[in-house]
Amino acid sequence: MFVRVMSREECQGVVAAGDLARLACCRDDQPYIVPITYAHSGNRLYCFSMPGQKIDWMRSNPKVSLQIAEFASNRVVVTGRYQELPATQGCHHERIHAWSLLEKKPNWWEPGGLKPVPQEISGASAHIFFCVEMDEMTGRAACAGEL
Ligand SMILES: Cc1cc2nc3c(=O)[nH]c(=O)nc-3n(C[C@H](O)[C@H](O)[C@H](O)COP(=O)(O)OP(=O)(O)OC[C@H]3O[C@@H](n4cnc5c(N)ncnc54)[C@H](O)[C@@H]3O)c2cc1C
Repeated sequence: MFVRVMSREECQGVVAAGDLARLACCRDDQPYIVPITYAHSGNRLYCFSMPGQKIDWMRSNPKVSLQIAEFASNRVVVTGRYQELPATQGCHHERIHAWSLLEKKPNWWEPGGLKPVPQEISGASAHIFFCVEMDEMTGRAACAGEL
């Protein structure tokens, strides 16, 4: 087996075809990583979440990294910046765009919308849409045989 560097086009193909990433964020020198569903559009990855640790941490430090895999043999690592899409007039179209892409994914909201402990009932839903603006993308693939 050998490992080769994937081209930018290959990396873009993996990111565009995928819908599940491992999202890593960091606060006070402590990394935190969770699986998350995403939808790709242009240079952005759109996600849905409820408030919680990762949102708190990304608000305080927007630098994030995501790992996306198409097969067990390849991995793409994306670095980028968290950007929240608040329910304001200025973000309305992008929120609808994010929603329309995410709703095509299977089980797109349940894992992010549900918590293991009962939540307080409130009048307004606290759901959050955000995107990761991609700055850099690298990929490596494991191949059978020898170099
Ligand atoms: C296939 C899949 C798809 C998912 N898609 C989404 C999505 O689109 N959006 C989304 O918001 N979430 C998604 N999740 C759930 C996500 O991985 C987190 O569990 C969830 O978002 C809660 O994260 P939080 O930081 O708000 O945790 P909080 O509810 O604030 O809880 C923080 C505490 O719980 C622990 N914790 C949190 N999540 C996990 C976990 N998954 N495993 C073990 N310990 C955990 C932390 O270590 C910490 O101690 C998905 C999960 C899976 C398996």
